[in-house]
Amino acid sequence: GPASGIDYRAELNDEQFGAVTSSPGRALVIAGAGSGKTRTLTYRVAYLLDQGIDARHILLLTFTNKAAREMTERVRSLVPHDVSALWSGTFHSIGNRILRRHAEELGFTKSFSILDTDDQKSLLASVVGSMAIDTKVRRFPKADVLVSMFSLERNTGEALKDILAVRYPYFDSWQREIHEVRDAYARRKQETNSMDFDDLLLKTLELFRDHPDILALYQQRFRHLLVDEYQDTNSVQSELIDLLAAGGSSVMAVGDDAQSIYSWRGADMGNILSFPKRHDGCRVFKIETNYRSVPEILELSNAAIRANRSRFEKDLRSSREVLGVKPALVPLEDPSAQAQFVAQRILELRDEGVPLEEMAVLYRAHFQSLEIQMELTSRGIPFAITSGLRFFEQAHIKDVAAFLRLVTNRRDEMSFKRILQLMPGIGNKGAEKLWSEWRKSGAATAEEAPDWPAALALKGVPKKAAKMWEQLGYILAEMTPGGSFARPGDMIYSVLEGMYDDHLKASYDNYENRRSDIEQLMAYASQFEDILEFLSQLSLLGGADGEPGGKREEQDTEKITLSSIHQAKGLEWKAVFLVWLADGAFPNGRIIEADDEAMMEEERRLFYVALTRAKDELYLSYPLINPKSYSGEVIQRPSRFLDDFPKEMVEEWNVSPRWGDSWEVDEPF
Ligand code: ATP
Ligand code: MG
Repeated sequence: GPASGIDYRAELNDEQFGAVTSSPGRALVIAGAGSGKTRTLTYRVAYLLDQGIDARHILLLTFTNKAAREMTERVRSLVPHDVSALWSGTFHSIGNRILRRHAEELGFTKSFSILDTDDQKSLLASVVGSMAIDTKVRRFPKADVLVSMFSLERNTGEALKDILAVRYPYFDSWQREIHEVRDAYARRKQETNSMDFDDLLLKTLELFRDHPDILALYQQRFRHLLVDEYQDTNSVQSELIDLLAAGGSSVMAVGDDAQSIYSWRGADMGNILSFPKRHDGCRVFKIETNYRSVPEILELSNAAIRANRSRFEKDLRSSREVLGVKPALVPLEDPSAQAQFVAQRILELRDEGVPLEEMAVLYRAHFQSLEIQMELTSRGIPFAITSGLRFFEQAHIKDVAAFLRLVTNRRDEMSFKRILQLMPGIGNKGAEKLWSEWRKSGAATAEEAPDWPAALALKGVPKKAAKMWEQLGYILAEMTPGGSFARPGDMIYSVLEGMYDDHLKASYDNYENRRSDIEQLMAYASQFEDILEFLSQLSLLGGADGEPGGKREEQDTEKITLSSIHQAKGLEWKAVFLVWLADGAFPNGRIIEADDEAMMEEERRLFYVALTRAKDELYLSYPLINPKSYSGEVIQRPSRFLDDFPKEMVEEWNVSPRWGDSWEVDEPF
């Protein structure tokens, strides 16, 4: 038997077994939700190791870094082999890892900074500001629109001018300027030794295309490529895989076309459908058993997705026993009644023995979780949020990170300006001026780390800022390699105690919370030796709210999950609450207006993803009234998706006192 002692026959069904033990080559596993695709991929890794394949020859690409960690952990528990040399993560994190090694080839240094969306927006705003575009005459796209335009161009490979014509016809008259902004933005990134998230993919592709020797290196290393959630790859990602595979490596891609939900970000379902054509001798495996959901939930999900016309026909049978309880359909008066219902039911389920970890509340858009967050908080029910503001996106965390980034990359314009604007008397303009002084001084590009206090003797520092300016010199000096606070955890300590704490106290009324966030970050940073590794980790992982990198999850108390459906892909819970099932909320109002079948089908796939997260219990709820709509109080129509399955498939719950009832209760006569 295999070294691991795994009984592959017993732990997998025939289809899964076939895929897991298939001989080297190209393989596609295309199967519905909960059929064990991710499990198949995990066992495939174990199987390869059992076959004597060295872990360093395996590359595992997943949709989130958390998923990568979980799969690697699972492999570790299955096999006795050392898996530390195995590479796993998202396309972005793998791109980052490769680029850090070869940045020089692309005109960057290995300590390049990673710009997140906010950084991108500020940089773009600064570019537009410097270009003397007369935005008063005609409306010019705002920074976040520019971010999407450029990102779409780069992720789909479509020409910017076509994207403008089709998706942004009202900005078409700015064609020339928008192209100029795009080019200037690219130059600024290069000058400031920074890459945005798209660069992590595109520069990797560029590296491979322009340097066949480097590509060959990775082709030889990664003899086995495994990709989960393949249906949501974009053209750049699928090309990266194809290039790596071109050296003869094996590829196993798994996915479900019915769960493709990222086309708005450039994902192309065509990648999975054309995979067999693009890969000679590709074997296709289909799994038709669902192991996740009780038949009641599975049938509902199958019926819901059947309303989509363009899809790969595949029927799923449940392997589970009938539960005897139908999914609940719960109309509620308004969002706060909905929140009360959800909270109440969560407590009841917990009393029935369902752990909080096994429950999730899912929604179409992050803001739809507000009332629920409030209700859970007031009842003391702990929750984790996987959508919305991530830990690293909070201003105070980004402030602290800016210091660390500046020390490692002195050309990091965004960080330099961010720090300066913490100081009294320095605004946008002042920061811009000091930045150009800093550039002129030469310290930004010198080989050697500067004597910080001396290098910061710049023209134009306002008197008001003098004291903080001096402190800045000190702390940057201690943080510099060889300084007394040069380790990641110590660096944060130095920033906090040397300068930032005063700013926090003066600027926020929730000082205590913010300070403890930073302390939490410090503890997390202390696990790292290498500052670059720590900074990359921060930008890439994000982690859920209050959980840098999600590392502290195990220590935390049990909590339920609040998540957007997009973020819930691939996950499963015993009980799932799907809220805000009203037309305009889900399907989203913009999509209803667009009246475009392809868009509506993607929205329906999102609905399918949501339904198929549930193992045992599913609650479908909607508020009848939306008091916060800006057109005043609005009576909502239940989601059209609820018409896609026969009414007998659900049990309607009547928990909300209807208007008539509440009149009778409240009125004295
Ligand atoms: P999704 O499409 O949502 O990503 P998936 O196809 O990746 O789903 P998994 O998450 O791998 O499905 O599996 C769903 C559940 O079914 C998991 O709890 C998994 O452990 C279980 N499962 C899968 N295959 C088997 C099997 N052969 N025997 C027992 N349990 C299984
Ligand atoms: Mg999966």
